This record gives sequence, structure tokens and C-alpha cells, in this order.
Amino acid sequence: MSSALDNDIKYLPGVGPKRAELLNKELGIYTFGDLLYYFPFRHIDRSTIHHIAEVNGEMPYIQLRGRFITFTTVGEGARRRLQALFTDGTGTIEVVWFNRVKSLQETLRTGVEYLLFGKPTVFKNHYNIVHPEIDVYKPEQAAMGLTGVYNLTEKLHSRYFTSRTIQKLVATMLEMPFVAHIPDTLPQTLIEKRRLLPLSQSLVAMHKPEDLQTLQRAQLRLKYEELFFLELNILRYVKRSGEKAKGLVFQRVGAYFNDFYFNVLQFPLTEAQKRVIKEMRRDMGSGRQMNRLLQGDVGSGKTVVAFMIMLIALDNDYQATIMAPTEILATQHYETIRGMAEPLGVKVALLTGSTRKRERDRIHAQLQSGELQILIGTHALIEDTVQYHNLGLAVIDEQHRFGVAQRARLWQKNVIAPHVLVMTATPIPRTLAMTVYGDLDVSIIDELPPGRKPVTTIMRYEKDRDKMYHFVGQQLRQGRQAYIVYPLIEESEKLDLKAVEQGYDLVRETFPHYHVAYVHGRMKPAEKDHQMQLFASGEAQILVATTVIEVGVNVPNASVMVIENAERFGLSQLHQLRGRVGRGADQSFCILMTKYELGRDTRHRLEVMTQTTDGFVVAEEDMKLRGPGDMEGTQQSGIAFNLKVANLAKDGQIVQMARDDAEEILTADPELSSPMGKALDARIHALYDKQANWSQIS
Ligand code: ADP
Ligand code: MG
Repeated sequence: MSSALDNDIKYLPGVGPKRAELLNKELGIYTFGDLLYYFPFRHIDRSTIHHIAEVNGEMPYIQLRGRFITFTTVGEGARRRLQALFTDGTGTIEVVWFNRVKSLQETLRTGVEYLLFGKPTVFKNHYNIVHPEIDVYKPEQAAMGLTGVYNLTEKLHSRYFTSRTIQKLVATMLEMPFVAHIPDTLPQTLIEKRRLLPLSQSLVAMHKPEDLQTLQRAQLRLKYEELFFLELNILRYVKRSGEKAKGLVFQRVGAYFNDFYFNVLQFPLTEAQKRVIKEMRRDMGSGRQMNRLLQGDVGSGKTVVAFMIMLIALDNDYQATIMAPTEILATQHYETIRGMAEPLGVKVALLTGSTRKRERDRIHAQLQSGELQILIGTHALIEDTVQYHNLGLAVIDEQHRFGVAQRARLWQKNVIAPHVLVMTATPIPRTLAMTVYGDLDVSIIDELPPGRKPVTTIMRYEKDRDKMYHFVGQQLRQGRQAYIVYPLIEESEKLDLKAVEQGYDLVRETFPHYHVAYVHGRMKPAEKDHQMQLFASGEAQILVATTVIEVGVNVPNASVMVIENAERFGLSQLHQLRGRVGRGADQSFCILMTKYELGRDTRHRLEVMTQTTDGFVVAEEDMKLRGPGDMEGTQQSGIAFNLKVANLAKDGQIVQMARDDAEEILTADPELSSPMGKALDARIHALYDKQANWSQIS
């Protein structure tokens, strides 16, 4: 069924082929419908006009009415700008433009009354407004009420395409009769149950609401709708995959597991560790494939859990593999696991990019014969043509570094897919987990081994550098070790590399009596390993490093983590880094070195770090700051939510509402075969068929 919504945008009066091309390219607007769904990111109240005398730096976008007194151009070339003085009789304010200087100079007049719309900012002790929206004042405009402000691109700006332009085009469309008759996309029963605004009314109100309350109702309706279809789609997939994926049945908990538990394990498991092991044992005995995400904060003891689960596979005569994101981490897993496996007589091997050909061939042969029971490795596990005798369990550490397709390649040669355990130290907030991992069962280790002291985290500025070194020195004298980490972010890699090199020199000068190890991402793996080994063995007391140490490295004697340029790291990265200390019984410290002037979000991010060591709190805050689409682990695994109005971090209640309703519908009509079900099914296809199949994570 085609409708006016599908009309080419170029046919909207006021658009035409040239503007249509811009709208296509810059905003992805191709049809009437696309424009109708291009919602303002903010509304301003056109009925309020402020006086210049009341302007202060706290104000959001405001409207001023008045006249220009003077225009001056300042600077040359690319730095040329137009400065104008604007007055409304109560005071004057400076207005500045950095581009379109010439054309503005030609069009703006001193005698004419204008409406300015923009955000006042403080600049050198007085207020100014940069790049305001500007209109010749017309009395009827002041009566416009709430008006949408639209996001635009630089290119559109340079083509005189402003938020006003979009407003006018939208206004033209809202006048068209079809708008009032857009059929609703939600079942009437839900609209009534949740007292939602009908679709066509909501769409109009998103652009031109009568009042704030109507705007909020329109937003609620559209958020609910987005989330409802998202949940319906996920839940339907979950129900289906629950029926389909057959799994190996591991009934036995046998000699290996018991021998380890009673004779080898050095410490009592925490209750949380016991619980998650039970959950996984149940999965693996159920006849269905296990697909479980194991979340546990850094240091919560995931490795031993994974090892015990692997032993269950071995007890049932299957092989197990564990894949880590980096060579360092794989090696460390290998060391740890070999230590636990040797007393049991279990055969373990390590396969990475730097494994020699002869060793590699030997591993391949032993793997195929079944002699080798546990294989640990990096990407090499999938890049090599590794053939297992019978793989029963694949453990993937730090899930966010591996894409979905890569994971699948671990076991595609098997007839029945092995059980899968994905481990991550990036805790995913509940609302997100519920939605992202709808098809993965989630186990959580929410308890640290006893005796750990929370890491004390503090912020320090450059001027405190000497004090910071002094403190590090004190810790070193007590026999502890320290990490000093520098950011290395790809775009500015050269500069960063220089910074870390200089840092290394400075640290060596400051601590001439200590051995300083040094690693960065550009080093050859062998050199990196050597340096890491120096630190791990205690031979080096200080490790200057880039973020290559972020994941997994375990040196319990290290008690200080200094993070240089901490403002450049994301929250979850900071949390991961901090997790490298606090692994022993002693008090540990994390020092965030930052510049003095910080943006509000950045300061908040660092303050969160100083206030909590709870990974879940950190993750919640991270999601609030960055938005869920940007969460580590969701982006890299290719999960596109495509949410336009809803926000998983902020709209938890609506998520729950939508999920409940979707459940109810699927319980009554699992195949979506009723007339209402069919309509919903069609809508799901229309919405999601274009997208990658993100619901099939691992
Ligand atoms: P992560 O969850 O970050 O991977 P690890 O598995 O590396 O954590 O465990 C961190 C440290 O805690 C290791 O040295 C491990 O031996 C130790 N550990 C794990 N479980 C316990 C426990 N129940 N009691 C005491 N120490 C434990
Ligand atoms: Mg780990």
C-alpha cells in the first residue's frame, strides 16, 4: 500500500530537485514520511521574548527582539568574522558570525526590527551570541508558541539551509490533508490500554505542539511504539530460538571437576561463583545449547568459574576452548589455567599469532586426535584452520572485542554447536541487558572474593605532579608496584606515542633506583611480552604503558594506578584500568591526572570514578552520559537499535511497559497469526528486515 508518506520529498512545495538532493545526502530525508519523522531535537517557546538586561550565562536558548546598531568585520581570511551590536532598549549584546560574513553583511540592516534566537555565552566578561537564528520581526511570529529546532549539518548551514527552513517545510506538510489520516501503527487495544495519543496527532505535536503537555504525550507515544516493536521482535526471536538450538548434553559432573574442587582449588568459592556455576551446569544438562553471558566486575573471579565449566565439558569427553582478545591476555590465561590443569593431568595448549610453525602443527594434530583437551588462544584460533576432535564448550573472554561472525567461526565445523560462555567485565545495566541480550541468558557474579579493599580513587591536577610522584615513591618503598598509563587514541597516535615516550623518560628520571618496564601497542608482541613479564615477575617495579594493559592483566602486588590525561578516557575504560589494582589484600590507589579545565560531562565522569568502585553504578552512569548506542559492547557487536526518540538509559519505565505488553501479546498469539498479530508481524518486517540480524549475538 503506498501512501503520501512515500512521496518523493522533491515534490513538497518549497523543495524541488536541488534542495531534495541536499535533504537526501545530508539528513537522509527522501520522502514525505522521512521529513515527518525528522523530529526537532528541542523546542523553543516563541511566545517568550527576553530582555537583554536579564540575560545571564545560565540561560538556554532564548529569543530577543530588537535592532542592530553597528556591524564590524574583524580578522582576515579564514579567521574573518562579523561582529554586530544588538539592542532592545534594555541593553546591548554582541552577536558574532564566523561564516557567511559577506552575505550577512549585505542582507542585515540597522533600521529593521529582528527576532534573534540563540544561546548567550560569556566571552571576556561580557555576553555574546554566536550564530543566532535570525528573522525579521513579525508580530504574528511572536504568537507562534512552541517551535521545533532541528539538527542540521555544516554543509546545510553553508547552503543557507537553517532550522527555519525545515520548520517552514514541515509546516507546509502539516497543512496537507493526508497528515490527519495517517493510519495508526499500534493496535487500538494498546492505544486504549496505555491511553496513548494516536499516531497522526503525535506526529503533528512532535513538530508543533499546542503546549508542553501535548509534546510530552506525543513523545511518550512514539517512544512506547519504538520500544514495543523492539521488544516484540526480540521476544519473538527468543521464543523461537528457545525451541530450535539443540545442544550437547553434559550430564556428568565427574572426576576432573571433583578432583579440582576438592583437591586443587586453593580458596573457597564465593556464593556468587557457586551460583553461576550451578546456572551453567543446568544449561549444559538441558539438551539445549547454552548461550550465556557471564558478567562480573574486574577481579570477581571469572577465570576459575570458566575453568570449572570447562572441566565439566572434559568430564563428558569433550574439548574446550577459550579465546581472549589479546596475546598478553591469552598468555596470562594460559599460565593460570595450566597451573590449575596440571595437577589434574589435563592437557592444555596456547595458540596465538606468534606460535611457531612446528608447535602449531603439533597442536593441530593433538587437537584432532583429541589428546589436547583445552586450547587457549587469540584470533589465531579462528584464523588458523583449527579442527577439533569434538569441541563441547567455547569460552569467549571480553566479548566486546569479538564480532558475531568471528564467534560463529569458532565452531562452524561442528554438527551440534558447542555451548557458549561469553565473559565480560563491562557490566551492562539491566534495562540494556534485557533488550540487547534478550536471547542470551545472563549470569552475574555480584560479589568480590573476601578481603578485597575498594580502591581509593582521587583526582589530581598537573600542579600536583610532584606530590603524586612522591606518593608513588612511598608505595614503591613499601615493596609495591605501580602502573602509569597514558592514552593512545588512534587519530592522534603519533602525538600520543610521543607523550608516552616522554612520560617514560620522566618516570625513569624521577625514579632512578627502580626498574621501569615499558609497553605500548606498537611494540612487537615478543618485546611487549618481555616487558610485561618483567613487571609481572616483580623485577620491574613500575610499568609505563598505554591502554594495552586495559584488559585482564593480573599483578596482585601492584597497588597504584596512575592514569595520565584521565579526561581522555571513557568511564568504562577508566574502570577497567582501575581494576588492575586492588587485586591483593592491601589498600590500593588510583590517581586520575587531569588538566585543570574540564567540561561538565568530563568532570562528572571523573567524579563518578572517585565516588564508586561498583562496576554496575559506573556502567549506569556511563550509559546516561554516552547513551546506550554508544556503550562498549553494544556498538562493537554491531547492535543497531535505531532508536529515534526512546532512550534505553532514561526510559526504563517505558521499556518495561513495552516489554510487558509484547509478552502478553506473544503469550496469547505466539505465531502472530490473528488479524492483529499479522499486522504487527508486517510492521516488524518493515522495521527490521533492512537491519543486520543483531538479535543473533553469539
Ligand atoms: P576476573 O573476573 O577479573 O577475570 P580473575 O578471574 O582474574 O578475575 O580473578 C582475580 C583474582 O582473584 C585471581 O587471582 C583469582 O585467583 C582470585 N580469586 C578468584 N576467586 C576467588 C575466591 N573465591 N577467593 C579468593 N580469591 C579468588
Ligand atoms: Mg579476567
